[in-house]
Amino acid sequence: MTTNTLLQSENFSLRQQLEAFLHEARQNEDKMRRFDQLERKLIGASSLLELVHLLLTEYRLAFGIEFVTLALVDKDYESTRILESAHGSDAGLSGLTLLQSPVPLEIRYGNARHPCLGAFNSEQHQGIFNAPEGAISSVALLPLARHGELIGSLNFGSANPDRYVQGCGTDFLERLAEVVAICIESALAQERLKLIGLTDVLTGVQNRRYFEHRCHVEISQARRYKHPLACMFLDIDKFKRINDTYGHPSGDEVLKSVALAIQSQLRSGDTIARYGGEEFVALLPQAELHHAQQIAERIRCSIAEKDLRALDGQTIRLTISIGLSMLPVEDMVGEDQQLADRLVAAADKALYEAKHRGRNQVVCDGSQPSGPARSTPWRRLHGLFSS
Ligand code: GH3
Ligand code: MG
Ligand code: MG
Repeated sequence: MTTNTLLQSENFSLRQQLEAFLHEARQNEDKMRRFDQLERKLIGASSLLELVHLLLTEYRLAFGIEFVTLALVDKDYESTRILESAHGSDAGLSGLTLLQSPVPLEIRYGNARHPCLGAFNSEQHQGIFNAPEGAISSVALLPLARHGELIGSLNFGSANPDRYVQGCGTDFLERLAEVVAICIESALAQERLKLIGLTDVLTGVQNRRYFEHRCHVEISQARRYKHPLACMFLDIDKFKRINDTYGHPSGDEVLKSVALAIQSQLRSGDTIARYGGEEFVALLPQAELHHAQQIAERIRCSIAEKDLRALDGQTIRLTISIGLSMLPVEDMVGEDQQLADRLVAAADKALYEAKHRGRNQVVCDGSQPSGPARSTPWRRLHGLFSS
Protein backbone atom coordinates (compact mmCIF):
# COMPACT_ATOMS: atom_id res chain seq x y z
CA MET A 1 0.00 0.00 0.00
CA THR A 2 1.42 3.40 -0.98
CA THR A 3 1.77 6.23 1.50
CA ASN A 4 -0.90 8.05 -0.38
CA THR A 5 -3.40 5.21 -0.06
CA LEU A 6 -2.60 4.88 3.64
CA LEU A 7 -3.24 8.56 4.17
CA GLN A 8 -6.50 8.34 2.26
CA SER A 9 -7.67 5.40 4.33
CA GLU A 10 -6.70 7.15 7.58
CA ASN A 11 -8.45 10.28 6.38
CA PHE A 12 -11.59 8.27 5.60
CA SER A 13 -11.60 6.63 8.99
CA LEU A 14 -11.12 9.98 10.74
CA ARG A 15 -13.97 11.45 8.74
CA GLN A 16 -16.18 8.56 9.78
CA GLN A 17 -15.26 9.09 13.42
CA LEU A 18 -15.95 12.77 13.11
CA GLU A 19 -19.35 12.06 11.53
CA ALA A 20 -20.18 9.67 14.36
CA PHE A 21 -19.19 12.29 16.97
CA LEU A 22 -21.21 14.96 15.20
CA HIS A 23 -24.19 12.62 14.98
CA GLU A 24 -23.97 11.88 18.70
CA ALA A 25 -23.55 15.58 19.49
CA ARG A 26 -26.60 16.44 17.41
CA GLN A 27 -28.59 13.69 19.13
CA ASN A 28 -27.50 14.95 22.55
CA GLU A 29 -28.34 18.49 21.56
CA ASP A 30 -31.78 17.38 20.43
CA LYS A 31 -32.25 15.39 23.64
CA MET A 32 -31.22 18.41 25.72
CA ARG A 33 -33.62 20.63 23.80
CA ARG A 34 -36.53 18.26 24.40
CA PHE A 35 -35.51 17.86 28.01
CA ASP A 36 -35.25 21.61 28.42
CA GLN A 37 -38.77 22.06 26.99
CA LEU A 38 -40.18 19.40 29.28
CA GLU A 39 -38.31 20.78 32.29
CA ARG A 40 -39.90 24.19 31.69
CA LYS A 41 -43.33 22.56 31.58
CA LEU A 42 -42.63 20.60 34.78
CA ILE A 43 -41.51 23.73 36.58
CA GLY A 44 -44.52 25.67 35.27
CA ALA A 45 -47.09 23.00 36.29
CA SER A 46 -49.78 24.73 38.31
CA SER A 47 -51.11 21.67 40.09
CA LEU A 48 -50.08 18.21 41.21
CA LEU A 49 -52.49 16.71 38.68
CA GLU A 50 -50.85 18.62 35.81
CA LEU A 51 -47.40 17.55 36.98
CA VAL A 52 -48.37 13.87 37.20
CA HIS A 53 -50.00 14.10 33.79
CA LEU A 54 -46.86 15.65 32.28
CA LEU A 55 -44.66 12.91 33.71
CA LEU A 56 -46.89 10.05 32.68
CA THR A 57 -47.76 11.18 29.17
CA GLU A 58 -45.60 13.99 27.82
CA TYR A 59 -42.32 12.46 28.88
CA ARG A 60 -43.23 9.17 27.20
CA LEU A 61 -44.10 10.99 23.98
CA ALA A 62 -41.13 13.40 23.98
CA PHE A 63 -38.54 10.69 24.54
CA GLY A 64 -40.24 7.73 22.86
CA ILE A 65 -40.25 5.57 25.96
CA GLU A 66 -42.82 2.78 25.84
CA PHE A 67 -43.63 2.64 29.56
CA VAL A 68 -43.48 5.33 32.24
CA THR A 69 -44.86 4.81 35.73
CA LEU A 70 -44.67 6.92 38.86
CA ALA A 71 -44.94 5.98 42.52
CA LEU A 72 -45.43 8.66 45.16
CA VAL A 73 -45.20 8.24 48.91
CA ASP A 74 -48.50 9.49 50.34
CA LYS A 75 -48.48 8.68 54.06
CA ASP A 76 -51.34 10.99 55.06
CA TYR A 77 -53.43 10.48 51.90
CA GLU A 78 -52.76 14.13 51.06
CA SER A 79 -51.92 13.49 47.39
CA THR A 80 -54.87 11.08 47.15
CA ARG A 81 -57.25 13.81 48.32
CA ILE A 82 -55.69 16.50 46.12
CA LEU A 83 -55.80 14.34 43.00
CA GLU A 84 -59.32 13.09 43.72
CA SER A 85 -60.69 16.57 44.19
CA ALA A 86 -58.99 17.79 40.99
CA HIS A 87 -59.76 14.76 38.91
CA GLY A 88 -62.82 13.10 40.43
CA SER A 89 -61.53 9.58 40.12
CA ASP A 90 -58.23 7.97 39.33
CA ALA A 91 -59.29 7.05 35.79
CA GLY A 92 -56.79 8.46 33.32
CA LEU A 93 -54.00 8.42 35.88
CA SER A 94 -53.01 4.86 35.10
CA GLY A 95 -49.33 4.48 35.78
CA LEU A 96 -49.55 6.30 39.11
CA THR A 97 -49.26 4.43 42.40
CA LEU A 98 -49.70 6.16 45.75
CA LEU A 99 -47.81 4.38 48.51
CA GLN A 100 -48.86 4.63 52.14
CA SER A 101 -45.26 3.96 53.20
CA PRO A 102 -41.77 4.56 51.77
CA VAL A 103 -40.69 1.02 52.74
CA PRO A 104 -41.10 -0.58 49.27
CA LEU A 105 -38.87 2.16 47.83
CA GLU A 106 -36.35 1.89 50.66
CA ILE A 107 -36.09 -1.83 49.93
CA ARG A 108 -35.61 -1.13 46.23
CA TYR A 109 -32.99 1.61 46.51
CA GLY A 110 -31.39 0.97 49.91
CA ASN A 111 -29.23 3.95 50.81
CA ALA A 112 -28.39 4.70 47.18
CA ARG A 113 -29.99 7.72 45.59
CA HIS A 114 -28.93 7.20 41.99
CA PRO A 115 -30.82 5.63 39.07
CA CYS A 116 -30.83 1.84 38.65
CA LEU A 117 -30.39 0.79 35.01
CA GLY A 118 -30.44 -2.69 33.56
CA ALA A 119 -32.24 -5.54 31.88
CA PHE A 120 -35.90 -6.14 32.65
CA ASN A 121 -36.38 -8.76 35.33
CA SER A 122 -39.98 -9.87 35.59
CA GLU A 123 -39.70 -10.87 39.25
CA GLN A 124 -38.46 -7.40 40.26
CA HIS A 125 -40.07 -5.19 37.63
CA GLN A 126 -43.41 -6.66 36.57
CA GLY A 127 -45.22 -5.05 39.54
CA ILE A 128 -43.69 -1.66 38.71
CA PHE A 129 -44.88 -1.54 35.09
CA ASN A 130 -47.68 -4.06 34.79
CA ALA A 131 -46.77 -4.36 31.10
CA PRO A 132 -47.59 -7.27 28.76
CA GLU A 133 -45.03 -10.05 28.82
CA GLY A 134 -42.01 -9.35 26.62
CA ALA A 135 -42.94 -5.68 26.06
CA ILE A 136 -40.07 -4.32 28.17
CA SER A 137 -36.43 -5.27 27.73
CA SER A 138 -34.58 -2.64 29.74
CA VAL A 139 -35.51 -0.38 32.65
CA ALA A 140 -34.35 2.78 34.40
CA LEU A 141 -35.67 3.28 37.93
CA LEU A 142 -35.12 6.79 39.28
CA PRO A 143 -35.38 7.39 43.03
CA LEU A 144 -37.05 10.72 43.81
CA ALA A 145 -35.68 12.14 47.03
CA ARG A 146 -35.88 15.39 48.99
CA HIS A 147 -33.57 16.14 51.90
CA GLY A 148 -32.37 12.52 51.81
CA GLU A 149 -35.90 11.09 52.15
CA LEU A 150 -37.47 9.02 49.37
CA ILE A 151 -40.67 10.67 48.16
CA GLY A 152 -41.24 8.51 45.10
CA SER A 153 -39.86 6.73 42.09
CA LEU A 154 -40.05 7.50 38.39
CA ASN A 155 -39.75 4.38 36.25
CA PHE A 156 -38.96 3.99 32.57
CA GLY A 157 -39.38 0.75 30.63
CA SER A 158 -38.06 0.39 27.08
CA ALA A 159 -38.55 -2.28 24.42
CA ASN A 160 -34.96 -1.61 23.37
CA PRO A 161 -32.55 -3.82 25.38
CA ASP A 162 -29.69 -1.34 24.77
CA ARG A 163 -31.55 1.74 25.96
CA TYR A 164 -30.83 1.32 29.67
CA VAL A 165 -27.68 -0.64 30.35
CA GLN A 166 -26.02 -1.10 33.72
CA GLY A 167 -22.90 1.05 33.96
CA CYS A 168 -24.12 3.63 31.44
CA GLY A 169 -23.75 7.31 32.29
CA THR A 170 -26.72 8.52 34.34
CA ASP A 171 -26.01 12.28 34.61
CA PHE A 172 -29.04 13.12 32.54
CA LEU A 173 -31.39 10.83 34.49
CA GLU A 174 -30.00 12.03 37.83
CA ARG A 175 -30.70 15.61 36.88
CA LEU A 176 -34.20 14.67 35.73
CA ALA A 177 -34.91 12.89 39.04
CA GLU A 178 -33.75 15.97 40.97
CA VAL A 179 -35.94 18.32 38.93
CA VAL A 180 -38.97 16.04 39.25
CA ALA A 181 -38.53 15.66 43.03
CA ILE A 182 -38.32 19.44 43.49
CA CYS A 183 -41.36 19.96 41.26
CA ILE A 184 -43.41 17.42 43.24
CA GLU A 185 -42.44 19.04 46.53
CA SER A 186 -43.32 22.48 45.21
CA ALA A 187 -46.64 21.31 43.66
CA LEU A 188 -47.65 19.88 47.04
CA ALA A 189 -46.69 23.13 48.76
CA GLN A 190 -48.77 25.07 46.22
CA GLU A 191 -51.74 22.76 46.76
CA ARG A 192 -51.47 23.29 50.54
CA LEU A 193 -51.44 27.05 50.02
CA LYS A 194 -54.50 26.87 47.79
CA LEU A 195 -56.26 24.85 50.48
CA ILE A 196 -55.31 27.35 53.19
CA GLY A 197 -56.54 30.21 51.02
CA LEU A 198 -59.94 28.54 50.72
CA THR A 199 -60.37 27.41 54.31
CA ASP A 200 -61.65 29.35 57.30
CA VAL A 201 -58.88 29.29 59.88
CA LEU A 202 -61.13 29.31 62.96
CA THR A 203 -63.75 26.71 62.08
CA GLY A 204 -61.89 24.64 59.47
CA VAL A 205 -64.81 24.76 57.02
CA GLN A 206 -64.44 26.45 53.62
CA ASN A 207 -64.42 30.21 53.37
CA ARG A 208 -66.52 32.63 51.33
CA ARG A 209 -64.04 32.65 48.45
CA TYR A 210 -64.36 28.90 48.08
CA PHE A 211 -68.15 29.15 48.33
CA GLU A 212 -68.28 31.66 45.49
CA HIS A 213 -66.16 29.42 43.29
CA ARG A 214 -68.20 26.33 44.24
CA CYS A 215 -71.47 28.12 43.63
CA HIS A 216 -70.50 28.56 39.98
CA VAL A 217 -69.50 24.92 39.60
CA GLU A 218 -72.75 23.69 41.18
CA ILE A 219 -74.92 26.06 39.16
CA SER A 220 -73.42 25.01 35.86
CA GLN A 221 -73.81 21.33 36.86
CA ALA A 222 -77.43 21.91 37.92
CA ARG A 223 -78.10 23.65 34.61
CA ARG A 224 -76.51 20.96 32.53
CA TYR A 225 -78.24 18.03 34.21
CA LYS A 226 -81.41 19.91 35.28
CA HIS A 227 -80.76 18.98 38.90
CA PRO A 228 -82.19 20.93 41.83
CA LEU A 229 -79.78 22.99 43.92
CA ALA A 230 -80.59 24.29 47.40
CA CYS A 231 -78.82 27.13 49.18
CA MET A 232 -79.00 27.82 52.92
CA PHE A 233 -77.95 30.83 54.89
CA LEU A 234 -77.50 30.05 58.58
CA ASP A 235 -76.97 32.75 61.19
CA ILE A 236 -76.52 32.25 64.93
CA ASP A 237 -79.19 34.09 66.91
CA LYS A 238 -78.10 36.84 69.29
CA PHE A 239 -74.48 35.78 69.05
CA LYS A 240 -73.27 39.11 70.27
CA ARG A 241 -74.81 38.23 73.64
CA ILE A 242 -72.77 35.02 73.79
CA ASN A 243 -69.58 37.04 73.32
CA ASP A 244 -70.70 39.64 75.84
CA THR A 245 -71.66 37.02 78.45
CA TYR A 246 -68.94 34.38 78.10
CA GLY A 247 -66.15 36.26 76.34
CA HIS A 248 -64.86 36.32 72.79
CA PRO A 249 -62.69 33.15 73.13
CA SER A 250 -65.75 31.16 74.26
CA GLY A 251 -67.62 32.70 71.31
CA ASP A 252 -64.91 31.27 69.06
CA GLU A 253 -65.39 27.80 70.54
CA VAL A 254 -69.13 28.10 69.95
CA LEU A 255 -68.53 29.02 66.31
CA LYS A 256 -66.40 25.90 65.87
CA SER A 257 -69.08 23.68 67.45
CA VAL A 258 -71.84 25.19 65.32
CA ALA A 259 -69.78 24.67 62.14
CA LEU A 260 -69.28 21.02 63.13
CA ALA A 261 -72.97 20.57 63.95
CA ILE A 262 -73.99 21.94 60.54
CA GLN A 263 -71.39 19.85 58.74
CA SER A 264 -72.51 16.66 60.47
CA GLN A 265 -76.00 16.99 58.96
CA LEU A 266 -74.74 17.43 55.39
CA ARG A 267 -73.66 14.89 52.80
CA SER A 268 -70.07 14.70 51.59
CA GLY A 269 -70.94 16.33 48.24
CA ASP A 270 -72.55 19.33 49.95
CA THR A 271 -70.63 22.53 50.59
CA ILE A 272 -70.49 24.39 53.88
CA ALA A 273 -68.64 27.66 54.20
CA ARG A 274 -68.29 30.40 56.75
CA TYR A 275 -69.71 33.39 54.93
CA GLY A 276 -68.49 35.84 57.55
CA GLY A 277 -68.80 36.47 61.32
CA GLU A 278 -71.41 34.12 62.76
CA GLU A 279 -72.99 33.38 59.42
CA PHE A 280 -72.61 30.16 57.41
CA VAL A 281 -73.78 29.18 53.97
CA ALA A 282 -74.45 25.73 52.54
CA LEU A 283 -75.04 24.38 49.04
CA LEU A 284 -76.92 21.13 48.61
CA PRO A 285 -76.75 19.82 45.07
CA GLN A 286 -79.53 17.49 43.96
CA ALA A 287 -81.67 18.28 47.00
CA GLU A 288 -85.37 18.98 46.33
CA LEU A 289 -87.02 21.72 48.37
CA HIS A 290 -88.76 19.38 50.84
CA HIS A 291 -85.52 17.48 51.41
CA ALA A 292 -83.49 20.65 51.93
CA GLN A 293 -86.19 21.85 54.36
CA GLN A 294 -85.90 18.65 56.35
CA ILE A 295 -82.12 19.01 56.54
CA ALA A 296 -82.37 22.66 57.57
CA GLU A 297 -84.85 21.72 60.26
CA ARG A 298 -82.56 18.93 61.48
CA ILE A 299 -79.66 21.41 61.71
CA ARG A 300 -81.83 23.92 63.58
CA CYS A 301 -83.02 21.28 66.10
CA SER A 302 -79.58 19.77 66.64
CA ILE A 303 -78.17 23.19 67.54
CA ALA A 304 -81.13 24.19 69.73
CA GLU A 305 -80.79 20.93 71.67
CA LYS A 306 -77.02 21.07 72.06
CA ASP A 307 -75.29 21.86 75.33
CA LEU A 308 -72.26 23.90 74.34
CA ARG A 309 -69.47 24.76 76.76
CA ALA A 310 -67.88 28.09 77.54
CA LEU A 311 -64.15 27.94 78.30
CA ASP A 312 -64.93 28.17 82.03
CA GLY A 313 -67.21 25.11 81.74
CA GLN A 314 -70.55 26.92 81.85
CA THR A 315 -73.29 25.53 79.61
CA ILE A 316 -74.25 27.66 76.64
CA ARG A 317 -77.54 27.19 74.78
CA LEU A 318 -78.18 28.93 71.51
CA THR A 319 -80.36 28.85 68.45
CA ILE A 320 -79.87 29.43 64.76
CA SER A 321 -82.04 30.94 62.01
CA ILE A 322 -81.96 29.56 58.50
CA GLY A 323 -82.99 31.01 55.14
CA LEU A 324 -83.45 28.57 52.29
CA SER A 325 -83.64 29.14 48.53
CA MET A 326 -83.73 26.92 45.46
CA LEU A 327 -82.26 27.40 42.04
CA PRO A 328 -85.29 27.65 39.75
CA VAL A 329 -84.75 24.50 37.66
CA GLU A 330 -87.49 25.34 35.17
CA ASP A 331 -86.43 28.91 34.63
CA MET A 332 -82.63 29.09 34.56
CA VAL A 333 -82.18 32.10 32.32
CA GLY A 334 -79.22 34.44 32.61
CA GLU A 335 -75.52 34.03 33.28
CA ASP A 336 -74.27 31.68 36.00
CA GLN A 337 -73.15 34.74 37.98
CA GLN A 338 -76.66 36.25 37.87
CA LEU A 339 -78.19 32.96 38.97
CA ALA A 340 -75.65 32.69 41.80
CA ASP A 341 -76.44 36.24 42.92
CA ARG A 342 -80.17 35.56 42.87
CA LEU A 343 -79.81 32.24 44.72
CA VAL A 344 -77.71 33.84 47.46
CA ALA A 345 -79.88 36.97 47.69
CA ALA A 346 -83.00 34.83 48.03
CA ALA A 347 -81.51 32.72 50.84
CA ASP A 348 -80.25 35.87 52.56
CA LYS A 349 -83.66 37.49 52.33
CA ALA A 350 -85.36 34.36 53.66
CA LEU A 351 -82.88 34.43 56.57
CA TYR A 352 -83.76 38.05 57.25
CA GLU A 353 -87.40 37.02 57.33
CA ALA A 354 -86.62 34.21 59.79
CA LYS A 355 -84.97 36.75 62.09
CA HIS A 356 -87.87 39.10 61.66
CA ARG A 357 -90.35 36.40 62.58
CA GLY A 358 -88.66 35.67 65.90
CA ARG A 359 -85.51 33.62 65.09
CA ASN A 360 -84.87 29.88 65.73
CA GLN A 361 -86.67 28.88 62.57
CA VAL A 362 -86.28 27.92 58.93
CA VAL A 363 -87.82 30.15 56.29
CA CYS A 364 -87.96 29.02 52.69
CA ASP A 365 -88.02 31.37 49.82
CA GLY A 366 -91.48 30.86 48.38
CA SER A 367 -92.70 28.79 51.30
CA GLN A 368 -93.51 28.89 54.98
CA PRO A 369 -91.15 28.60 57.96
CA SER A 370 -91.04 25.27 59.68
CA GLY A 371 -89.86 26.48 63.10
CA PRO A 372 -91.36 24.98 66.22
CA ALA A 373 -93.58 27.85 67.23
CA ARG A 374 -95.22 28.40 63.86
CA SER A 375 -98.93 27.95 63.63
CA THR A 376 -99.74 30.28 60.75
CA PRO A 377 -100.53 28.72 57.38
CA TRP A 378 -97.88 28.46 54.68
CA ARG A 379 -97.09 31.85 53.30
CA ARG A 380 -95.30 32.82 50.15
CA LEU A 381 -92.44 35.28 50.25
CA HIS A 382 -93.01 37.27 47.15
CA GLY A 383 -90.40 38.72 44.88
CA LEU A 384 -87.33 37.10 46.42
CA PHE A 385 -85.86 36.04 43.10
CA SER A 386 -86.48 39.41 41.57
CA SER A 387 -84.34 41.22 44.12
P1 GH3 B 1 -78.93 38.25 65.22
O1 GH3 B 1 -79.76 37.24 65.91
O2 GH3 B 1 -79.72 39.37 64.69
O3 GH3 B 1 -78.09 37.64 64.17
O4 GH3 B 1 -77.98 38.86 66.32
P2 GH3 B 1 -76.41 38.72 66.46
O5 GH3 B 1 -76.01 39.25 67.79
O6 GH3 B 1 -76.01 37.32 66.18
O7 GH3 B 1 -75.90 39.60 65.28
P3 GH3 B 1 -74.92 40.82 65.24
O8 GH3 B 1 -74.62 41.02 63.79
O9 GH3 B 1 -75.47 41.98 66.01
O10 GH3 B 1 -73.62 40.35 65.97
C1 GH3 B 1 -72.78 39.38 65.45
C2 GH3 B 1 -71.69 39.15 66.43
O11 GH3 B 1 -70.80 38.11 65.99
C3 GH3 B 1 -70.84 40.38 66.64
C4 GH3 B 1 -69.40 39.90 66.48
O12 GH3 B 1 -68.59 40.33 67.53
C5 GH3 B 1 -69.55 38.40 66.55
N1 GH3 B 1 -68.50 37.75 65.79
C6 GH3 B 1 -68.26 37.85 64.46
N2 GH3 B 1 -67.19 37.09 64.14
C7 GH3 B 1 -66.75 36.52 65.27
C8 GH3 B 1 -65.67 35.64 65.59
O13 GH3 B 1 -64.87 35.22 64.74
N3 GH3 B 1 -65.54 35.24 66.88
C9 GH3 B 1 -66.39 35.67 67.85
N4 GH3 B 1 -66.22 35.22 69.07
N5 GH3 B 1 -67.39 36.51 67.59
C10 GH3 B 1 -67.59 36.93 66.32
MG1 MG C 1 -76.43 36.50 64.26
MG1 MG D 1 -75.02 37.90 61.24
